[in-house]
Amino acid sequence: TVGDARDETEHIVVGTAGHVDHGKSTLVGTLVTGSADDGDGGTRAYLDVQPHEIERGLSADLSYGVYGFEDGEPVRMNNPLSKREKSDLVGSADRLVSFVDTVGHEPWLRTTIRGIVGQKLDYGLVAVAADDGPTRVTREHLGVLLATDLPTMVAITKIDAVTDERAEEVEKEVAQLLRNVGKVPYSVANNGIDAAVERLPEGVVVPVLRTSAVTLEGFDTVDEMLSRLPKTHDGAGDCFEMYVDRTYNVTGVGTVASGTVKNGTVEAGDTVYLGPTPDGSFREVEVRSIEMHYHRVDRAEPGNIVGIALKNVDDEDVERGMLLASEPRESVREFRAEVMVLNHPTRIRSGYEPVVHLETASEAAVFEPQNGNVLPGETDDVRVRFKFRPYAVEEGQRFVFREGRSKGVGTVKEIL
Ligand code: GDP
Repeated sequence: TVGDARDETEHIVVGTAGHVDHGKSTLVGTLVTGSADDGDGGTRAYLDVQPHEIERGLSADLSYGVYGFEDGEPVRMNNPLSKREKSDLVGSADRLVSFVDTVGHEPWLRTTIRGIVGQKLDYGLVAVAADDGPTRVTREHLGVLLATDLPTMVAITKIDAVTDERAEEVEKEVAQLLRNVGKVPYSVANNGIDAAVERLPEGVVVPVLRTSAVTLEGFDTVDEMLSRLPKTHDGAGDCFEMYVDRTYNVTGVGTVASGTVKNGTVEAGDTVYLGPTPDGSFREVEVRSIEMHYHRVDRAEPGNIVGIALKNVDDEDVERGMLLASEPRESVREFRAEVMVLNHPTRIRSGYEPVVHLETASEAAVFEPQNGNVLPGETDDVRVRFKFRPYAVEEGQRFVFREGRSKGVGTVKEIL
């Protein structure tokens, strides 16, 4: 089936985060299927089965869950891993909501952190279990999501497992945590959905929701919010851009580059530019076909998570971090950035060598702070040079960097 009715489909991409076992994947699994029941008296630990079952189809599952809305009513799947159900969903929904894991299960935000800046995220969703309450990992995940200016919500999960008093207490702790980083907490349970939907996209208010995958309390509210929230990335601009997240070789199709369309649109048959290569060049390639959640589409739009099959391109010619764009780009080895150190144990000095996660690239870089060093909690001007190869970098792009236990965020100010 080749879809063209999909033109009006709005595609919201939500990045999830939270301490391991705080109910993040159960939350997503419940939204996607309508039930967390595993048929065995327990809740379905949804994400845990997923990595083994991801099939290397044309549109790789960057997202680990997707559901939709048709005329405001949720459309869910019985089996979230069924290609046919996914394809039907994409064909029928007028709004799709994809969930992308941003920080994975790794306590120290290893390379999966690239998800936050590499994906075209509209919103963040941080799970905090009502029994444990916010932890150091919760603080860190919230800190990174908010520092990258992503409008973010907090779901207090496992509400069924605690008393009302405990739920209130955790909500207060979360509220305090948000105030500490300059955000305004908004209790959806106490104050309703309307103002949350209106003010969340600005990123000032952080809605705090309560959910239980056991009693399904709070899920109507989450559905309603997700059915009403606007895209925060409209992908304005005609120039097509997609940073390559994964590459595949699919029998009968050839080399496939998957990722999230950042800007513009692309159609099967289009000529686009791929690069930069390690030596800094872009080359012309032709789009053979496009697939989204196992559904062949004629064109892809901003926010769509797609697999793009490329004609006459070998596997080794495409790598994560490269850009597919309607025009060739400057290949950048060095730039000036404003960086903020989140929690470096000491100061950052000249010659500091973190890994920089920019769009989908994860690359070793050397930092030269303009003022000699940067203290934790401070913002400073830094010259950043990729150690081994260039990437397509633009002013205004945000990135995350980490080295050992230290990490921080930055904004590209000037290409050098
Ligand atoms: P993740 O690591 O954050 O993705 O957490 P999971 O979704 O895998 O959930 C961790 C554990 O908490 C699992 O055993 C779930 O069954 C359980 N759990 C998740 N959500 C709820 C909930 O709303 N209520 C209760 N009682 N348990 C839950």
